[in-house]
Amino acid sequence: MKPFAYVNPANEKDAVAALTSNGKSLPLAGGQDLLARMKDYVTEADRIVNVKTALDGTVSAAPGGGLKIGAAVKMVDLAAHADVARLYPAISAAAIEVGTPQIRNQGTVGGNLNQRPRCWYFRNEEFVCFKKGGNQCFSPAGENQFHAIFGSGPSFIVHPSSLAVPMVAYGASFRLFGPNGERIVQAADYFTMPTLQNVERENVLAPNELLTHAILPAPGSVKSGHYEVRYKTSHDWPIAFATVLLTMNGSNVGAARVVMGAVAPVPWRSQAAEQALAGKPVTEATASAAADAALRDARPLSQNAYKVQVAKTAVKRAILRAAGIQTV
Ligand SMILES: Cc1cc2nc3c(=O)[nH]c(=O)nc-3n(C[C@H](O)[C@H](O)[C@H](O)COP(=O)(O)OP(=O)(O)OC[C@H]3O[C@@H](n4cnc5c(N)ncnc54)[C@H](O)[C@@H]3O)c2cc1C
Repeated sequence: MKPFAYVNPANEKDAVAALTSNGKSLPLAGGQDLLARMKDYVTEADRIVNVKTALDGTVSAAPGGGLKIGAAVKMVDLAAHADVARLYPAISAAAIEVGTPQIRNQGTVGGNLNQRPRCWYFRNEEFVCFKKGGNQCFSPAGENQFHAIFGSGPSFIVHPSSLAVPMVAYGASFRLFGPNGERIVQAADYFTMPTLQNVERENVLAPNELLTHAILPAPGSVKSGHYEVRYKTSHDWPIAFATVLLTMNGSNVGAARVVMGAVAPVPWRSQAAEQALAGKPVTEATASAAADAALRDARPLSQNAYKVQVAKTAVKRAILRAAGIQTV
Protein backbone atom coordinates (compact mmCIF):
# COMPACT_ATOMS: atom_id res chain seq x y z
CA MET A 1 0.00 0.00 0.00
CA LYS A 2 1.23 3.47 -0.83
CA PRO A 3 2.05 5.43 2.36
CA PHE A 4 -0.53 8.04 3.36
CA ALA A 5 -1.09 10.65 6.04
CA TYR A 6 -3.91 10.08 8.53
CA VAL A 7 -6.03 12.94 9.83
CA ASN A 8 -8.51 12.70 12.68
CA PRO A 9 -10.74 15.80 12.51
CA ALA A 10 -13.12 16.77 15.31
CA ASN A 11 -16.12 17.78 13.20
CA GLU A 12 -17.49 18.00 9.66
CA LYS A 13 -15.96 21.44 9.04
CA ASP A 14 -12.48 20.26 9.97
CA ALA A 15 -13.02 17.08 7.95
CA VAL A 16 -13.80 19.07 4.81
CA ALA A 17 -10.83 21.38 5.47
CA ALA A 18 -8.56 18.32 5.74
CA LEU A 19 -10.02 16.84 2.56
CA THR A 20 -9.42 20.11 0.72
CA SER A 21 -5.68 20.30 1.61
CA ASN A 22 -3.02 19.69 -1.06
CA GLY A 23 -2.81 16.23 -2.61
CA LYS A 24 -5.49 13.60 -2.98
CA SER A 25 -7.54 13.05 0.18
CA LEU A 26 -10.32 10.56 0.79
CA PRO A 27 -12.77 10.09 3.67
CA LEU A 28 -12.45 6.95 5.77
CA ALA A 29 -15.46 5.56 7.63
CA GLY A 30 -15.43 1.87 8.60
CA GLY A 31 -12.69 1.36 6.01
CA GLN A 32 -13.95 -2.00 4.78
CA ASP A 33 -14.22 -0.83 1.20
CA LEU A 34 -11.64 1.98 1.07
CA LEU A 35 -8.75 0.13 2.74
CA ALA A 36 -9.39 -3.00 0.65
CA ARG A 37 -9.15 -0.92 -2.53
CA MET A 38 -5.97 0.75 -1.29
CA LYS A 39 -4.39 -2.60 -0.42
CA ASP A 40 -5.26 -3.84 -3.92
CA TYR A 41 -3.71 -0.74 -5.57
CA VAL A 42 -7.09 0.17 -7.06
CA THR A 43 -7.30 3.44 -5.11
CA GLU A 44 -4.44 5.64 -3.92
CA ALA A 45 -4.54 8.65 -1.62
CA ASP A 46 -2.01 11.01 -0.02
CA ARG A 47 -4.25 11.63 2.96
CA ILE A 48 -6.99 9.66 4.67
CA VAL A 49 -9.48 11.66 6.72
CA ASN A 50 -11.31 9.75 9.43
CA VAL A 51 -14.97 10.78 9.32
CA LYS A 52 -16.25 8.10 11.69
CA THR A 53 -15.87 10.36 14.71
CA ALA A 54 -16.22 13.70 12.87
CA LEU A 55 -19.70 13.01 11.49
CA ASP A 56 -22.99 12.46 13.32
CA GLY A 57 -23.37 8.93 14.67
CA THR A 58 -26.95 9.26 15.86
CA VAL A 59 -30.51 8.73 14.64
CA SER A 60 -32.75 11.67 15.55
CA ALA A 61 -36.20 13.05 14.77
CA ALA A 62 -36.54 15.03 11.55
CA PRO A 63 -39.09 17.85 11.13
CA GLY A 64 -42.50 16.56 10.04
CA GLY A 65 -42.23 13.17 11.74
CA GLY A 66 -39.36 11.61 9.79
CA LEU A 67 -35.91 10.50 10.90
CA LYS A 68 -32.43 11.94 10.36
CA ILE A 69 -29.71 9.30 10.20
CA GLY A 70 -26.10 10.41 10.68
CA ALA A 71 -23.55 9.10 8.18
CA ALA A 72 -21.44 7.71 11.04
CA VAL A 73 -24.26 5.50 12.36
CA LYS A 74 -23.02 1.91 12.30
CA MET A 75 -24.97 -0.57 10.22
CA VAL A 76 -25.47 -2.73 13.32
CA ASP A 77 -27.10 0.17 15.16
CA LEU A 78 -29.26 1.07 12.17
CA ALA A 79 -30.47 -2.52 11.93
CA ALA A 80 -31.37 -2.57 15.64
CA HIS A 81 -32.92 0.90 15.91
CA ALA A 82 -36.52 0.65 17.14
CA ASP A 83 -37.79 3.81 15.39
CA VAL A 84 -36.17 2.82 12.10
CA ALA A 85 -37.79 -0.62 12.34
CA ARG A 86 -41.19 0.85 13.21
CA LEU A 87 -41.27 3.61 10.60
CA TYR A 88 -39.06 2.20 7.80
CA PRO A 89 -39.01 -1.61 8.09
CA ALA A 90 -37.43 -2.01 4.64
CA ILE A 91 -34.40 -0.03 5.83
CA SER A 92 -34.03 -2.30 8.86
CA ALA A 93 -34.45 -5.35 6.62
CA ALA A 94 -31.78 -4.13 4.20
CA ALA A 95 -29.36 -3.24 7.02
CA ILE A 96 -29.72 -6.56 8.80
CA GLU A 97 -28.99 -8.54 5.64
CA VAL A 98 -25.67 -6.76 5.03
CA GLY A 99 -22.66 -9.06 5.46
CA THR A 100 -22.14 -10.48 8.94
CA PRO A 101 -22.42 -9.05 12.48
CA GLN A 102 -18.73 -8.08 12.31
CA ILE A 103 -19.18 -6.30 8.98
CA ARG A 104 -22.27 -4.48 10.24
CA ASN A 105 -20.39 -3.51 13.38
CA GLN A 106 -17.62 -1.90 11.33
CA GLY A 107 -19.58 -0.47 8.40
CA THR A 108 -21.36 2.88 8.48
CA VAL A 109 -24.34 4.38 6.69
CA GLY A 110 -22.12 6.90 4.85
CA GLY A 111 -19.66 4.19 3.83
CA ASN A 112 -22.44 1.89 2.70
CA LEU A 113 -24.08 4.49 0.48
CA ASN A 114 -20.74 5.55 -1.00
CA GLN A 115 -19.01 2.19 -1.34
CA ARG A 116 -17.55 1.58 -4.80
CA PRO A 117 -18.70 -1.19 -7.18
CA ARG A 118 -17.86 -4.84 -6.54
CA CYS A 119 -17.14 -5.48 -10.25
CA TRP A 120 -14.13 -7.80 -10.40
CA TYR A 121 -12.60 -5.85 -13.30
CA PHE A 122 -12.81 -2.61 -11.32
CA ARG A 123 -11.34 -4.36 -8.26
CA ASN A 124 -8.38 -5.83 -10.16
CA GLU A 125 -5.46 -3.46 -10.71
CA GLU A 126 -4.60 -5.22 -14.01
CA PHE A 127 -7.84 -4.04 -15.67
CA VAL A 128 -7.81 -0.32 -16.42
CA CYS A 129 -11.53 0.06 -17.08
CA PHE A 130 -13.64 3.17 -17.63
CA LYS A 131 -13.92 3.60 -13.86
CA LYS A 132 -10.14 3.85 -13.55
CA GLY A 133 -9.61 6.25 -16.46
CA GLY A 134 -9.42 3.54 -19.14
CA ASN A 135 -11.41 3.44 -22.34
CA GLN A 136 -13.53 0.32 -22.00
CA CYS A 137 -15.77 -1.75 -19.74
CA PHE A 138 -14.48 -5.32 -19.73
CA SER A 139 -17.74 -6.92 -18.67
CA PRO A 140 -19.79 -7.03 -21.93
CA ALA A 141 -17.21 -9.30 -23.58
CA GLY A 142 -16.04 -10.85 -20.33
CA GLU A 143 -17.31 -12.48 -17.14
CA ASN A 144 -20.58 -10.67 -16.52
CA GLN A 145 -22.73 -13.02 -14.45
CA PHE A 146 -23.22 -10.44 -11.67
CA HIS A 147 -23.43 -7.33 -13.82
CA ALA A 148 -26.27 -5.04 -14.86
CA ILE A 149 -29.38 -6.16 -16.71
CA PHE A 150 -30.66 -2.58 -17.11
CA GLY A 151 -28.93 0.38 -18.70
CA SER A 152 -26.85 0.42 -21.81
CA GLY A 153 -23.42 1.18 -20.45
CA PRO A 154 -20.85 2.51 -20.97
CA SER A 155 -20.21 0.79 -17.61
CA PHE A 156 -22.25 -2.25 -16.54
CA ILE A 157 -21.62 -2.21 -12.79
CA VAL A 158 -24.46 -2.76 -10.35
CA HIS A 159 -24.68 -0.37 -7.44
CA PRO A 160 -23.42 -2.23 -4.36
CA SER A 161 -25.38 -0.47 -1.63
CA SER A 162 -28.31 -2.37 -0.14
CA LEU A 163 -29.39 0.74 1.78
CA ALA A 164 -29.59 2.86 -1.35
CA VAL A 165 -32.64 0.97 -2.62
CA PRO A 166 -35.03 1.49 0.34
CA MET A 167 -33.67 5.05 0.71
CA VAL A 168 -34.85 5.79 -2.83
CA ALA A 169 -38.14 3.95 -2.25
CA TYR A 170 -38.95 5.95 0.91
CA GLY A 171 -38.09 9.26 -0.80
CA ALA A 172 -35.06 10.00 1.40
CA SER A 173 -32.85 13.00 0.81
CA PHE A 174 -29.17 13.30 1.62
CA ARG A 175 -27.46 16.25 3.29
CA LEU A 176 -24.08 16.92 1.71
CA PHE A 177 -21.45 19.21 3.22
CA GLY A 178 -18.40 20.42 1.34
CA PRO A 179 -16.11 23.38 0.65
CA ASN A 180 -19.10 25.39 -0.63
CA GLY A 181 -21.29 24.63 2.36
CA GLU A 182 -24.29 22.32 2.62
CA ARG A 183 -26.88 21.15 0.09
CA ILE A 184 -29.73 18.64 0.08
CA VAL A 185 -30.07 16.13 -2.75
CA GLN A 186 -32.88 13.61 -3.23
CA ALA A 187 -31.60 10.03 -2.96
CA ALA A 188 -33.18 9.35 -6.37
CA ASP A 189 -31.00 12.09 -7.87
CA TYR A 190 -27.85 11.24 -5.90
CA PHE A 191 -26.99 8.00 -7.69
CA THR A 192 -26.06 8.54 -11.34
CA MET A 193 -26.24 6.40 -14.44
CA PRO A 194 -22.86 6.22 -16.18
CA THR A 195 -22.15 8.42 -19.17
CA LEU A 196 -18.80 8.89 -20.88
CA GLN A 197 -18.46 12.20 -19.01
CA ASN A 198 -19.05 10.83 -15.47
CA VAL A 199 -18.27 7.13 -15.83
CA GLU A 200 -15.67 7.16 -13.04
CA ARG A 201 -18.33 8.11 -10.47
CA GLU A 202 -21.53 6.60 -9.09
CA ASN A 203 -23.08 9.73 -7.59
CA VAL A 204 -23.21 13.52 -7.66
CA LEU A 205 -20.88 14.05 -4.68
CA ALA A 206 -18.53 16.93 -5.57
CA PRO A 207 -14.78 16.75 -4.79
CA ASN A 208 -14.12 16.92 -1.05
CA GLU A 209 -17.83 16.84 -0.26
CA LEU A 210 -19.22 14.49 2.40
CA LEU A 211 -22.58 12.83 2.78
CA THR A 212 -23.45 13.76 6.37
CA HIS A 213 -27.07 12.61 6.83
CA ALA A 214 -29.88 10.65 5.25
CA ILE A 215 -33.22 12.35 5.97
CA LEU A 216 -36.35 10.22 5.74
CA PRO A 217 -39.77 11.86 5.38
CA ALA A 218 -42.67 10.69 7.56
CA PRO A 219 -43.78 7.40 6.01
CA GLY A 220 -47.52 7.93 6.41
CA SER A 221 -49.59 4.75 6.25
CA VAL A 222 -47.39 3.02 3.70
CA LYS A 223 -46.80 -0.75 3.89
CA SER A 224 -43.38 -2.01 2.88
CA GLY A 225 -41.69 -5.22 1.78
CA HIS A 226 -38.02 -5.95 1.11
CA TYR A 227 -36.71 -9.16 -0.43
CA GLU A 228 -33.10 -10.11 -1.28
CA VAL A 229 -31.89 -13.12 -3.24
CA ARG A 230 -28.34 -14.35 -2.70
CA TYR A 231 -26.30 -16.95 -4.57
CA LYS A 232 -26.63 -19.17 -1.51
CA THR A 233 -27.20 -18.46 2.16
CA SER A 234 -24.02 -16.48 2.59
CA HIS A 235 -22.75 -13.07 3.62
CA ASP A 236 -22.12 -12.00 0.03
CA TRP A 237 -23.88 -9.12 -1.75
CA PRO A 238 -27.33 -10.02 -3.18
CA ILE A 239 -27.80 -11.07 -6.83
CA ALA A 240 -31.01 -9.07 -7.02
CA PHE A 241 -33.37 -7.50 -4.53
CA ALA A 242 -36.34 -5.18 -4.27
CA THR A 243 -38.08 -2.77 -1.95
CA VAL A 244 -41.81 -2.27 -2.48
CA LEU A 245 -44.02 0.33 -0.81
CA LEU A 246 -47.80 0.11 -1.03
CA THR A 247 -50.35 2.76 -0.10
CA MET A 248 -53.66 0.93 0.10
CA ASN A 249 -57.02 2.31 -0.91
CA GLY A 250 -59.37 -0.09 0.82
CA SER A 251 -58.40 -3.57 -0.31
CA ASN A 252 -56.78 -2.30 -3.53
CA VAL A 253 -53.40 -0.70 -4.09
CA GLY A 254 -53.78 3.08 -4.27
CA ALA A 255 -50.18 3.77 -5.16
CA ALA A 256 -47.01 1.67 -5.27
CA ARG A 257 -43.29 2.28 -5.30
CA VAL A 258 -41.11 -0.50 -6.71
CA VAL A 259 -37.31 -0.15 -6.63
CA MET A 260 -34.85 -2.91 -7.52
CA GLY A 261 -31.24 -3.36 -6.46
CA ALA A 262 -28.21 -5.15 -7.95
CA VAL A 263 -29.72 -4.95 -11.43
CA ALA A 264 -28.39 -1.59 -12.66
CA PRO A 265 -25.72 1.03 -11.90
CA VAL A 266 -28.31 2.84 -9.74
CA PRO A 267 -31.31 1.77 -7.63
CA TRP A 268 -33.74 0.97 -10.45
CA ARG A 269 -37.30 2.19 -10.05
CA SER A 270 -39.98 0.47 -12.13
CA GLN A 271 -42.94 2.67 -12.92
CA ALA A 272 -44.29 -0.12 -15.13
CA ALA A 273 -44.58 -2.37 -12.07
CA GLU A 274 -46.10 0.45 -10.03
CA GLN A 275 -48.75 1.04 -12.71
CA ALA A 276 -49.44 -2.69 -12.95
CA LEU A 277 -50.31 -2.72 -9.22
CA ALA A 278 -52.34 0.48 -9.03
CA GLY A 279 -56.04 -0.11 -8.49
CA LYS A 280 -55.69 -3.87 -7.96
CA PRO A 281 -55.76 -6.11 -4.91
CA VAL A 282 -52.49 -7.81 -4.05
CA THR A 283 -52.64 -11.48 -5.01
CA GLU A 284 -50.11 -13.99 -6.35
CA ALA A 285 -51.37 -13.17 -9.84
CA THR A 286 -51.18 -9.37 -9.59
CA ALA A 287 -47.77 -9.58 -7.89
CA SER A 288 -46.49 -11.84 -10.71
CA ALA A 289 -47.87 -9.50 -13.36
CA ALA A 290 -46.17 -6.51 -11.71
CA ALA A 291 -42.89 -8.45 -11.46
CA ASP A 292 -43.13 -9.31 -15.18
CA ALA A 293 -43.71 -5.65 -15.94
CA ALA A 294 -40.70 -4.67 -13.80
CA LEU A 295 -38.36 -6.84 -15.84
CA ARG A 296 -39.92 -6.37 -19.28
CA ASP A 297 -37.22 -3.95 -20.44
CA ALA A 298 -34.27 -5.87 -18.98
CA ARG A 299 -31.34 -6.31 -21.39
CA PRO A 300 -29.11 -9.00 -19.94
CA LEU A 301 -25.49 -9.51 -20.96
CA SER A 302 -24.13 -12.83 -22.26
CA GLN A 303 -24.00 -14.61 -18.86
CA ASN A 304 -26.59 -12.96 -16.65
CA ALA A 305 -29.99 -13.69 -18.22
CA TYR A 306 -30.72 -15.77 -15.11
CA LYS A 307 -30.85 -12.52 -13.12
CA VAL A 308 -34.09 -11.57 -14.87
CA GLN A 309 -35.96 -14.42 -13.19
CA VAL A 310 -34.18 -13.81 -9.89
CA ALA A 311 -35.17 -10.14 -9.94
CA LYS A 312 -38.76 -11.05 -10.86
CA THR A 313 -38.89 -13.32 -7.84
CA ALA A 314 -37.48 -10.57 -5.60
CA VAL A 315 -40.08 -8.05 -6.82
CA LYS A 316 -42.97 -10.49 -6.51
CA ARG A 317 -42.01 -11.56 -2.99
CA ALA A 318 -41.40 -7.96 -1.88
CA ILE A 319 -44.91 -7.08 -3.09
CA LEU A 320 -46.43 -10.02 -1.24
CA ARG A 321 -44.45 -9.19 1.90
CA ALA A 322 -45.63 -5.57 1.73
CA ALA A 323 -49.20 -6.84 1.62
CA GLY A 324 -48.57 -9.16 4.56
CA ILE A 325 -48.89 -12.30 2.45
CA GLN A 326 -46.58 -15.10 3.54
CA THR A 327 -43.67 -15.85 1.15
CA VAL A 328 -41.03 -18.55 1.47
C1 LIG B 1 -18.12 -9.71 2.93
C2 LIG B 1 -18.89 -8.43 2.83
C3 LIG B 1 -20.24 -8.49 2.48
C4 LIG B 1 -20.97 -7.31 2.33
N1 LIG B 1 -22.27 -7.37 1.94
C5 LIG B 1 -22.95 -6.22 1.71
C6 LIG B 1 -24.30 -6.25 1.27
O1 LIG B 1 -24.92 -7.28 1.09
N2 LIG B 1 -24.90 -5.04 1.05
C7 LIG B 1 -24.27 -3.84 1.24
O2 LIG B 1 -24.86 -2.81 1.04
N3 LIG B 1 -23.00 -3.80 1.68
C8 LIG B 1 -22.34 -4.95 1.91
N4 LIG B 1 -21.05 -4.88 2.35
C9 LIG B 1 -20.42 -3.55 2.52
C10 LIG B 1 -20.41 -3.09 3.98
O3 LIG B 1 -21.72 -3.01 4.35
C11 LIG B 1 -19.83 -1.67 4.24
O4 LIG B 1 -20.88 -0.80 4.44
C12 LIG B 1 -19.11 -1.07 3.13
O5 LIG B 1 -18.04 -1.90 2.90
C13 LIG B 1 -18.54 0.33 3.39
O6 LIG B 1 -18.71 0.81 4.69
P1 LIG B 1 -17.53 1.46 5.52
O7 LIG B 1 -18.13 2.28 6.59
O8 LIG B 1 -16.55 0.41 5.90
O9 LIG B 1 -16.94 2.47 4.42
P2 LIG B 1 -15.47 2.87 3.94
O10 LIG B 1 -14.75 1.74 3.36
O11 LIG B 1 -14.77 3.66 5.00
O12 LIG B 1 -15.90 3.89 2.79
C14 LIG B 1 -16.50 3.45 1.58
C15 LIG B 1 -16.36 4.54 0.53
O13 LIG B 1 -17.20 5.64 0.86
C16 LIG B 1 -16.45 6.83 1.09
N5 LIG B 1 -17.09 7.45 2.23
C17 LIG B 1 -17.19 6.96 3.48
N6 LIG B 1 -17.94 7.76 4.24
C18 LIG B 1 -18.34 8.78 3.44
C19 LIG B 1 -19.17 9.92 3.64
N7 LIG B 1 -19.74 10.19 4.84
N8 LIG B 1 -19.37 10.77 2.60
C20 LIG B 1 -18.81 10.51 1.40
N9 LIG B 1 -18.03 9.46 1.15
C21 LIG B 1 -17.81 8.58 2.16
C22 LIG B 1 -15.02 6.37 1.30
O14 LIG B 1 -14.06 7.33 0.88
C23 LIG B 1 -14.95 5.12 0.44
O15 LIG B 1 -14.68 5.44 -0.91
C24 LIG B 1 -20.32 -6.04 2.56
C25 LIG B 1 -18.98 -6.00 2.94
C26 LIG B 1 -18.28 -7.17 3.07
C27 LIG B 1 -16.82 -7.06 3.48
